[in-house]
Amino acid sequence: MKIKDFIAQKKYSSFINGSFVSPSQKTPISIDSPVEGKNWKTIFFSSKEDINRTLESSHEAFLSWKKIPSPIRGKTLKKIGNLLKENQKELAMLITQEMGKPITESEAEIEYAAGYFFWFSGEAERIYGISIPSQFENKRLHIHYEPVGVCGLITPWNFPLAIPARKIAAALAAGCTVVCKPSPETPLSLLALANLCEEAGLPPGVLNIIIGEEKEIGQQILASNLVRKISFTGSTEVGKYLFKESSTTLKKLTLELGGNAPAIVYDDANLDKAITEILAAKFRNTGQTCIAPNRIFVQESIYEDFLEKFQAKVQNLVVGDPRKETTELSMFLHPESIKKIQLHLEDAEKKGAKFLLKPKELYEPSILTEVTPKMVVFQEETFGPVCPILRFSTIEESVEMANDTPFGLAAYFFTENIQQADFSVSNLEFGIIGVNDGIPSTPQASFGGIKYSGFGREGGPTGIFEFLTEKYVSLKF
Ligand code: NAD
Repeated sequence: MKIKDFIAQKKYSSFINGSFVSPSQKTPISIDSPVEGKNWKTIFFSSKEDINRTLESSHEAFLSWKKIPSPIRGKTLKKIGNLLKENQKELAMLITQEMGKPITESEAEIEYAAGYFFWFSGEAERIYGISIPSQFENKRLHIHYEPVGVCGLITPWNFPLAIPARKIAAALAAGCTVVCKPSPETPLSLLALANLCEEAGLPPGVLNIIIGEEKEIGQQILASNLVRKISFTGSTEVGKYLFKESSTTLKKLTLELGGNAPAIVYDDANLDKAITEILAAKFRNTGQTCIAPNRIFVQESIYEDFLEKFQAKVQNLVVGDPRKETTELSMFLHPESIKKIQLHLEDAEKKGAKFLLKPKELYEPSILTEVTPKMVVFQEETFGPVCPILRFSTIEESVEMANDTPFGLAAYFFTENIQQADFSVSNLEFGIIGVNDGIPSTPQASFGGIKYSGFGREGGPTGIFEFLTEKYVSLKF
């Protein structure tokens, strides 16, 4: 189906074994759009039987998909990437309608998602084995890499297309088949991707998208011996649950969880450039990214200068209708997001923080000074456009405060001094470090965290290994 016609539909259901199924469970669920309003679309949740059928057909599809030579699989991925780019405008508007991010960011999300299909189409050609010299003349030792099997992918609402794309592209390149469960509020852009995958010639059963009750789908994926891998992006709380519950069937796991990123501005930084990069990192998706700076540390000697310049820029950010090209920040998908921001701001104020910029509406940017590690805003990711600012005197102190969190996804710092940069890179306990760079993520580099931010990597030269297992072969003659 042409993507325009696909998007124009009112009713949607899961994509199972190559087609959009008539659900056996008939209860329609209404999807509200933060832009288009209530009852925007209707979706039919899949039943337990639908999900069992999906797991079985996905396993059957795996038995043939894994045999297709990986460079040929890579060609299909390239076609999918091209189709995403050809349909960029329509898909971007769908993302904006579905979850409310500014249209320019939705366009960037499609570009980013396509990038993963292009990257992994190449990676499919580079699944090299290893040949190891033996101490015996009559032995040959080899390591082969093989697809792990059916993969259960569970994804969040904040990047409804790019996060599933980064998992799906890697899994398909490796030779795995996929059962993907998106967030129930944002399934449409992923269903649109499934539509494009069909157009690209992906065989039935290789990619399945199941929409349904999250706990029920989770339990079925966790309990199934057919599913050999779970790749999850979302909150640390749900990540811990999946980690624990997957132990009964001993699945391979990738967990991309919450963050609490620091951004450190040293006194020798190029201040204008640092502020531009912090704005890009902080306000993308109206602050709703796992790698958004959640605590901004500024060195004493440039503190006042930084505040003045930062405030001038932040108060001029354009908040409004996400369908307009000029909008930089927009509304939220969830009412809970507003509650969390309110809680963080109230707690900070009660404990002595001061507003340098106070928002009228809570989806507008705010700047807090006199922030301390005792405040919730320091300890937890706010997932909104709140900028808590702290001052520090020495480099050691900045790194110690930045590391004072159980999370370890991304960190940023800004300096022109190579020794300072080397010290910070070596001592910051995070999986991704942006040095004078607010937007480090890209398909050809690995994405992932440590500590409570999870484990495993997506994209980059190691992302494909998350979907492969090792087979060691000792050949004696
Ligand atoms: P969430 O954990 O509530 O939900 C994520 C997904 O898990 C959704 O599809 C949801 O339906 C599903 N889910 C929830 N409970 C489940 C259960 N019991 N069984 C199976 N599935 C279940 O997270 P969210 O609110 O959608 O996303 C925001 C969080 O995601 C933030 O903490 C953010 O930092 C994190 N995140 C991390 C990354 C990363 O790459 N590290 C990227 C984006 C978002």
